[in-house]
Amino acid sequence: MHLQQKVLAKNDRLAQENRNWLRQRSVLAINLMSSPGAGKTTLLERTARELAGKVGISVIEGDQAAALDARRIRAAGCKVVQINTGAGCHLDAGMVAEGLRLLEPPGGSLVVIENVGNLVCPALFDLGEEARVVLASVTEGDDKPVKYPHMFRRADLVLVSKTDLLPYVDFDGKRHATDVRQVSPDALMLQLSATTGAGMQEWYDWLRRRTPAPPQE
Ligand code: MG
Repeated sequence: MHLQQKVLAKNDRLAQENRNWLRQRSVLAINLMSSPGAGKTTLLERTARELAGKVGISVIEGDQAAALDARRIRAAGCKVVQINTGAGCHLDAGMVAEGLRLLEPPGGSLVVIENVGNLVCPALFDLGEEARVVLASVTEGDDKPVKYPHMFRRADLVLVSKTDLLPYVDFDGKRHATDVRQVSPDALMLQLSATTGAGMQEWYDWLRRRTPAPPQE
């Protein structure tokens, strides 16, 4: 077996353990992925503030270095664990297992795993999440689904972000949607702006539909 296959096989085993752990506790985990600067943390800050008291949210922050995003998320009122991957370009299931044990998310809550900003490696690693969300900002251009098909292929939800900047950038939303459809026929697509709040309600509805009820004692 090639080394990469071995690494992936071990990761998949650990991801399945995470999935079982989360299901036993009735916790929804989503894997949030995008290129750097697409607005993952900004989306989470607004989401945390607007869903406060409605959905319990905790966050696992993945970055190569520093805890800048963890600080922002904590300020938005969420429990957060920062994981630094060093030279690593993605989170893996073992890191997430550790993060989950530190977070101790309560039943009926949501854990958002903010992956390292990168459209390549995170696509290969199952973390044990229930759903994969890919954020694609209008500022990075409409050609990403064609250039990075693996990232979009297994997405359950594609969020087109920073739509408030559409008047200033060259982004063909129709082309983008057609290209997403091509690689991921079943993914839901939503457009939003975490700056103006446009489209955020549909994102919240999507999250709340998936968040399980707390387990009965
Ligand atoms: Mg971030």
